[in-house]
Amino acid sequence: MPHHTSLIAILCIGFVLAFVFGLLAQRLRLSPIVGYLIAGVLVGPHTPGFVGDQTLAPQLAEIGVILLMFGVGLHFSLRDLIAVRNLAMPGAIVQMSVATAMGWFLGWRLGWPHSQSILFGLSLSVASTVVLLRALESGRMLDSERGRIAVGWLIVEDLAMVLALVLVPALAGNDDGEGLGKVLLATSLKVGGFIALMLIVGRRVLPWVLERVADTGSRELFTLCVLACAMGVAFGAAELFGVSFALGAFFAGMLLNESPFGHKAAEDSLPLRDAFAVLFFVSVGMLFDPGILIEHPLEVLETLAIIMIGKSLAAWTVVRMLGKSNEIALTIAASLAQIGEFSFILIGLGVSLELMSPETRDLVLAGAILSIMLNPLLFAVLARRRARAEEKNAAAAPASPPMRHVLLVGYGRVGIKLAGLLTRSEVPFVVIDTDADRVETARAAGYRAIRGNAADDDVLAEAMPERAALAVLTIPDPLEAGKVAKRLKQCETPIPVLARAHSDAAVKHLLERGADAAILAEHALAHSLVEMVMSAPPYRYPRPAAGKR
Ligand code: AMP
Repeated sequence: MPHHTSLIAILCIGFVLAFVFGLLAQRLRLSPIVGYLIAGVLVGPHTPGFVGDQTLAPQLAEIGVILLMFGVGLHFSLRDLIAVRNLAMPGAIVQMSVATAMGWFLGWRLGWPHSQSILFGLSLSVASTVVLLRALESGRMLDSERGRIAVGWLIVEDLAMVLALVLVPALAGNDDGEGLGKVLLATSLKVGGFIALMLIVGRRVLPWVLERVADTGSRELFTLCVLACAMGVAFGAAELFGVSFALGAFFAGMLLNESPFGHKAAEDSLPLRDAFAVLFFVSVGMLFDPGILIEHPLEVLETLAIIMIGKSLAAWTVVRMLGKSNEIALTIAASLAQIGEFSFILIGLGVSLELMSPETRDLVLAGAILSIMLNPLLFAVLARRRARAEEKNAAAAPASPPMRHVLLVGYGRVGIKLAGLLTRSEVPFVVIDTDADRVETARAAGYRAIRGNAADDDVLAEAMPERAALAVLTIPDPLEAGKVAKRLKQCETPIPVLARAHSDAAVKHLLERGADAAILAEHALAHSLVEMVMSAPPYRYPRPAAGKR
């Protein structure tokens, strides 16, 4: 294959195979991530057929990590980070030390040199952001306390990795203490300089630029501006300060989050973030030689045990010792029971410095892939455990009286008005909205609000539609509203559903899906304008003569 087409080939074949296997995995009730990884193994050099360019894949993955960390930043404010520091700092440090020690012990038993054993342990000690975020997102935990703790924990791990990536080459190169001290000092100064620059200058400049660009009214320029901020800061951080791309992008996202347009920035960059996250998993799959599973099954299992049992136990213990509930401790432990991108960067460095043998690298990769595959299972076990506990509580409690609330789907311009009216009329209601800020506003106003897509069965179930009296769908998308209407009508006791629509086709679609009424927004608007023209004194139009109407 001519070299200049390798980028196109890897993108096309990567996306197509990832799609096919992702869909297959979904069908088999596995995480789509498993499908993406298998697609990667298939385009890798260890399986017959097409072999993707081995140098391009990691670069594409890195873009995925940049965009992903940018996304994390967009949902994370400085306040959140500071709020969880008391747990995330000690937690991450203890957990990383325990994992490194266990990895070192395994290496020592296998007779590896100390440097390789320590590096091996260190690479098992950091969790993958991509995997963690996927898990939190699908469990709708991103805006919960445990979600924030997990993300904060990961950021501390990331900062520790920045240090490790600088220290490893320095340690490999010279072992006199003086040189090491200098390297340490230089690194701390650089990282500190970067953070200070971002917090002092970036904090003002980035939101300012975004607002100016939003003023131009060009959607294209706005999206471009968001991308330029993410990639530009990431690149600048790496080139000028030696900080990881990921950390730079995280800061860019966090600062844009302070702007009123942060929400739009998050929305606009989402499809790109998703696409590159998929490429990340494909490229990890490409690195993997499945032969290791047959040649060294025992070592693979031990590695996996360190990642999934050793690290989890350490995390659970720390969280419990710091006074958090068992539920939170279990979620944090499950979130971090995997490894990913940072481990790949670290082992890549180890192999290039000849500190690590290719077999050890394959062992880390096997541990990563297996733990990424098994991680969603841990969450499934947790979810089942929670559901059982809730069932038990429900059984113990006397049958709860019917709530007969109104289900208010969408808390935007339309939903807010309705909420005010329902409050005045003392009708209880539950809000569902996808947007974190909107949900926060609703909660601040004292309303019960659920964050999530109402078209998602679990989200809808949380609002207890079976005990509701009425549902009002104020969301603009007719396909999503149609899905909600259909679902509500499938409940044991279907409730009346009123919906908002913006076209005749939408009205038809909603009515077909079971909505009892669909109000065409433009009709209602025309009606109000007509009324205003006919009745308000300054605009009163001469009424037609009696009898002519
Ligand atoms: P507006 O058009 O101003 O009435 O806003 C519509 C609101 O509906 C926004 O707050 C959206 O976040 C919210 N929304 C849109 N789609 C969904 C959905 N599928 N589930 C829940 N909320 C939604």
